[in-house]
Amino acid sequence: MTNKPSLYLVNPASTFPTYYSVEALRAGGYSPAALVADLAVVTIAGMAPSDFNVALVDENISPVDFDISADFVGITGKVNQWRRMAEIAREFRRRGKTVIMGGPFASLSPDVVRPYCDILVKGEIEEVSDTLFTNLRSGNWKKEYAGQRSQFSSPVMPRWDLYPNDRALLGIVQTSRGCPFQCEFCDTIQYVGRQQRHKPVQQILNELDDLYKYGYRMVFFADDNFTANRQHAKELLRELRNWNLRQKDGPVSFVTQVSIDSAADEELLRMCAEAGMIYVFIGIETPNEDSLRQSGKNQNLRDSLTGQIERFLHNGIGVMAGMIVGFDSDGQDIFARQYEFAQSVPIPIFSLGALVAPAGTQLYERLAADSRILPGEAGIATMAPWDTNIVPNRMKREELLSGIKALCARLYDPGAFTDRLMRFIEKAAVPDSMKESGTLGQLRGRSVEIDTMRLMSDLKRLGPEEAAMWSQVRAALSQKPKLALVVLNMLLQYMQIRYMYNSK
Ligand code: SF4
Repeated sequence: MTNKPSLYLVNPASTFPTYYSVEALRAGGYSPAALVADLAVVTIAGMAPSDFNVALVDENISPVDFDISADFVGITGKVNQWRRMAEIAREFRRRGKTVIMGGPFASLSPDVVRPYCDILVKGEIEEVSDTLFTNLRSGNWKKEYAGQRSQFSSPVMPRWDLYPNDRALLGIVQTSRGCPFQCEFCDTIQYVGRQQRHKPVQQILNELDDLYKYGYRMVFFADDNFTANRQHAKELLRELRNWNLRQKDGPVSFVTQVSIDSAADEELLRMCAEAGMIYVFIGIETPNEDSLRQSGKNQNLRDSLTGQIERFLHNGIGVMAGMIVGFDSDGQDIFARQYEFAQSVPIPIFSLGALVAPAGTQLYERLAADSRILPGEAGIATMAPWDTNIVPNRMKREELLSGIKALCARLYDPGAFTDRLMRFIEKAAVPDSMKESGTLGQLRGRSVEIDTMRLMSDLKRLGPEEAAMWSQVRAALSQKPKLALVVLNMLLQYMQIRYMYNSK
């Protein structure tokens, strides 16, 4: 080791295209990009003491430099990145580097990850980072570190100065960790727990200041459930609105994840809209109430799903929905039921997937006890859209997987998608919030934004149905320009899903 220890942090690409990446840009002839900037590598870089030389790479944007002269290589990732995490670790170890692995997958599946690294970090790194860096510096590290749940008592500033900010469409801030619900298939609560913890508001605003400086005008709050603690969410939303009103170069639009029960609080939705929230992800999962009940998704059973979704739209907030097929009470009719539900609600984008059982979840335990987890490598839940690690209950695995592909093809048929998108534009209220909020005028001309706009105009050349979609959408948006930014996100996701489907 040289006098100054050096660390190379790697966010590996997903092994397959996902709903949350934008390989569609590269496929369209543009430079690679990330939909959302990666928070893990910049946060760990922020934890490194000042005497460490730190470099980082987001493989969604640029290739990993295997020739880099770093003492340590830190590799993070979620389950969809696991195969690539393993490949990168293997190559760096072959070249004699000391490899550290951590993040959600390493925390949930330490036995799988341990053989691939020299140092394993399980759990949340905040509480062990000081010890880890001290030990790395002295050359006296342990094979394993286990972090407890952080209370955000000494939050770090992410090192956005090291990140290729021109190539990520959305910036990212995490304001809380944890979700009080207990959906049977959820691995998040196994990793971060059900007790929600909140980052200090001033820290959130400082992080937003930094992202603003780098030109981000859309920011994803990477919370497990942003509105779980409604009182806290309202306090934060008030501060976010005030922060946004102070910005001289236009406001920022926010995107996050919430649970559907937040629709019961009209004040909360209004405050979301006033703060600049334009788009939320909600795990709707299924219209099959037996499946919701069985998977413990009780918050989706309290009121009509359609009525609750519309309340977001009445506040000018778009909804993207998670959709799962393959619950124990799902029979062959579920594909038609899901399609009918999707076409009846004003939600353009559904992230559709088979039920999977990630390691550490209650679902995994239940199905493993029933010998319904596939053996070997196939038993690792990869989260690939067209795959599962479980044996379904009421249909064959092949029927589930082919049914999903057929459902996806129907959902994203240009005509069906146009119907949903037009219904969204028609039903969504125009938020009475800050000037420019939600309009394309917010964007600052970063290269990823320019490429996204170009990809959108390529859409009309895909075929006559897409050309019709494009002209209908343009005409509708001319009446509601404050929906343009959320519609841009939806169209980009549509292009990505078509790409995913064609490359399956
Ligand atoms: S609401 Fe979402 S984050 Fe919370 S337990 Fe259910 S799936 Fe997990």
